[in-house]
Amino acid sequence: MAFHFEKPSKFDFKPGQAADVTLSNPPETDSEGNTRTFSIASSPFERQLMFTTRMRDTAFKRSLKKVLLGTDVKIDSPMDSFTLHKNSAKPAVFLAGGIGITPFLSIVRQADHDRLPHKLYLFYSNRRPEDAAFLEALQMLQKSNPNFQLVCTMTEMSKSKKEWKEETGLINQEMLSGHLTNPQGPVYYIAGPPAMVAGLRKMLVTANIDEDDIRTEDFAGY
Ligand SMILES: Cc1cc2nc3c(=O)[nH]c(=O)nc-3n(C[C@H](O)[C@H](O)[C@H](O)COP(=O)(O)OP(=O)(O)OC[C@H]3O[C@@H](n4cnc5c(N)ncnc54)[C@H](O)[C@@H]3O)c2cc1C
Repeated sequence: MAFHFEKPSKFDFKPGQAADVTLSNPPETDSEGNTRTFSIASSPFERQLMFTTRMRDTAFKRSLKKVLLGTDVKIDSPMDSFTLHKNSAKPAVFLAGGIGITPFLSIVRQADHDRLPHKLYLFYSNRRPEDAAFLEALQMLQKSNPNFQLVCTMTEMSKSKKEWKEETGLINQEMLSGHLTNPQGPVYYIAGPPAMVAGLRKMLVTANIDEDDIRTEDFAGY
């Protein structure tokens, strides 16, 4: 579910950054409190701030689901350095699991808007196409931006009612080398549930990718 907020006039952020969102006086709360960290899924060129989350049965999310239009929330200053590297000679390879797509959506849409010269590859893993947030928007972006290549993979097509002719199975070395001309050259960015992030980092290190070229963001709680 996506949540859209008016962007305060002096709110600056870089694509890929996250912010703490706090509900004031929510109808219910629990021991985890009224604050969660979310990547800003919108891009700086857009007029609104958008956060997107996988809805689950926690007090915070039950409360978030009920907020009325026009509700004020507290959004702290953007944080993190999960932002695109400057050297455009080095491609970026984004590895996203599920809702881990949010920082990458912001990065690839801003890069398109600014016509950045970087080559961007997004490997996006979900159980089924039905679960894949922003799938159509990303497919459209790939058609209009020759610097952006999207590789979507589904890991549980047996549970899907949709047709799928692209990649299936987990992101692995074989899938990467099938789409990248030189897997040693890019900067890799991984975002998603902690177990997936750890697994993909290990896979890259085993493939002799320089650890300085691997950046990760754990979405704790999944
Ligand atoms: C930089 C960053 C960006 C993120 N961006 C997004 C996003 O764009 N969309 C999104 O849906 N989620 C994002 N997350 C994850 C988000 O902050 C929540 O943790 C997640 O949505 C789960 O919230 P919940 O209310 O469902 O579960 P919760 O009630 O928060 O917790 C579920 C379980 O996770 C554990 N847990 C919670 N926080 C932590 C933690 N920090 N470390 C270890 N264990 C923890 C709890 O103890 C509990 O057992 C991001 C996290 C980080 C750090």
